[in-house]
Formats: sequence, C-alpha cells, structure tokens
Amino acid sequence: MININDKTIYEIENLFKERSYQKFRAKQVFRAIHVNRLNDFDEMTDLPLKMREDLKADFKFERIKVLKTFESKIDSTKKYLLELPDKNIVEAVYMDYKDRSTICISSQVGCRMGCSFCASTKNGLVRNMTASELIEEVYLLERLNGPISNIVIMGIGEPLDNFDHIKKFIEIITDPSGRNLSHRSITLSTSGLSPRIKDLADTGLDVNLALSLHYADDKKRAVYMPVAKKYSIKDLIDATDYYFDKTGRRVSFEYVVIDGVNNLTEDVENLRDLLFGKNVHINLIPLNPIEEFNHKKPGARVLEDFKQRLIKRGLNATIRRSMGIDIDASCGQLRNNYAR
Ligand code: SAH
Repeated sequence: MININDKTIYEIENLFKERSYQKFRAKQVFRAIHVNRLNDFDEMTDLPLKMREDLKADFKFERIKVLKTFESKIDSTKKYLLELPDKNIVEAVYMDYKDRSTICISSQVGCRMGCSFCASTKNGLVRNMTASELIEEVYLLERLNGPISNIVIMGIGEPLDNFDHIKKFIEIITDPSGRNLSHRSITLSTSGLSPRIKDLADTGLDVNLALSLHYADDKKRAVYMPVAKKYSIKDLIDATDYYFDKTGRRVSFEYVVIDGVNNLTEDVENLRDLLFGKNVHINLIPLNPIEEFNHKKPGARVLEDFKQRLIKRGLNATIRRSMGIDIDASCGQLRNNYAR
C-alpha cells in the first residue's frame, strides 16, 4: 500500500500515469486531500466509482490522533500528545496570539542530539517522522482549532536530522494547489548541523531559520550540546551567512538563558564578537527546568538584565514571550511523563 498523503502533486501525477489515469486526476486528488481535507477515497465523490475502488486497493492514508490535550487556563495555549500510526507518541503545541496562531510541531520520535538541558533527547531517537505524519500534525491541529498562520518546527526532534521528510513536508504544505502556506510563515529550528543548513538554503524553500546557539564559545557549547564537537561555531556562522545570502531571510539565534552558566560577562563579549554588525536577531528563552538538568528557571530580572547588556553591545535581542506557562512542560516532557 502506498501512502497517498505523503506525496507531492508531481509524485501523484507519476503514480497516476503508471495507472493510466488522466493527468488532471492527480490535481483533483491532491486538492481533495490538502484543500478539502478528505482522508478517505469514498468521500471523493467527484472521482468515478471504479477509480475510487482501484485507488483504495493501492493507496492508504496515514492518520494520527490526539491521545491527550492539556489546556492553559491563562491563555488559549493547548498542548497535545499525539499518537502516530505505529503507536509512537510525539507532542505539538497550539498558540493563539491576537493577530495570528502558531503551532509548534515535532519532527522526530525522540532525538539523538543529546543536549543536556532538553527533555526530548533523554531516551534517544526512535525514528524519523514521515512527511505525511508532519502534514497530519498540522491538519489535525487545524481541524481542532481552525486555520493556523504559522508553523514552527521546534517540537521534539532535530528537523535537519530528518532532512528528506522535512523538505517534502515543506514542499507539500506550501504547494499553491494545496494548503498554500507561505514559506515565510514556516520557521525551522536546528541545533546546528551546518552542512544541512547549506543544503536547506540550496533547496530554495526559503523558510525562516532559527539556530539554537545557546553558548557563544565552542568549549562551553560542547559541554551541553554534543553536536558542538562536530560542528564549530565558525562552521555555523559560515552556514547561517550562506543561508542569509541565498534566501535573504534573517537568521534568528536562539539562546536559552541558564543563569550563572551562559549569561556571564564573557558570554556577552563572545556574543558581541560573533554577531556584531550582522543582520541577525537573538531570541532569549528562559530555561524550562527539567528533572534531568539541575538548573532553575531564570527570573524576569535576570533575563531583562542580560538583554540590556546585549543591546548595549549593539546586538539585537528580545525575550521570547512564554505561552501556556501553567501547562509548562517543555517539549519532550509530556511524552516522557506519559511513558513513565
Ligand atoms: N532540535 C531543534 C528543534 C527542537 S528544540 C533545535 O535544537 O533547535 C527547540 C528549542 O527549544 C531549541 O532552541 C532548544 O534548544 C530549546 N530547548 C530545549 N530544551 C529546553 C529547555 N529545557 N528550556 C528551554 N528551551 C529548551
């Protein structure tokens, strides 16, 4: 059985050609899936009955479902535990702002990057998510909350460690004959696989890129982020410069503030040396404490003070707004708790 909601319109055209269907049928089916959101050939009543029966024998739809919902009482943030077809579990978050709604989606079941402050990686990588699972993640949250305006790929997993599926997912979700989401409404966050950052730039997909820098010194970064042993900060700056040159998209640098660890004077100086004069943005994120990492959440004053010190050095820094703080399980924690 071939997974139909995993396919770009061109792939469906080829599959249909092999089966001697007329070319326009591919667009019809693609629209049925991505515009009308049907996930059953029986509902595609504008297809001939015989074709529907033949398609059912050959193709299937991958579906995922909500296992548990956590709703904030402070704002309208919702966190979901989602069950994949093989019963594996991932997380997604829906956030409602005044003028837009954003969802944060997972890209892998688990993660193999090993960052010490991150809950998602504690049990390693189980497997990559497929393009159709990523698509379904979005459509499921839209079915529950209405159309969304932005997607951030910042949930469980390292998206650039699942490059091919992520690329296909972006191609499908931005296709003008389907969901037609704009490239600039998608943000991909990476722990820093520099060769893949360049590959992403070369795809021409032009999504927003966020780099999880967190430490501006290689030695220090490597203590908390094993990926830093493979790719140096210089590699990352080369790759993000390349990304900016190719796409014209300003790269944002994420910085999880861990009080007493990476908000020291040396960190401010290192960040300045690294980023001054570049068209980048530093996004300060308060550490979300997890059981396995013995550090507290920084207070509002610590964050503000660090931000001001960066601004004084001529850097462009803001503090990320926290949503749904009463259901504040950082990504990966809900899944880990559920597994326990
Ligand atoms: N693997 C990708 C995307 C998923 S993580 C990446 O590393 O960018 C999304 C963001 O959440 C990253 O910036 C990550 O460093 C951050 N993060 C991980 N654990 C966190 C925690 N405990 N508190 C705050 N942010 C965290």
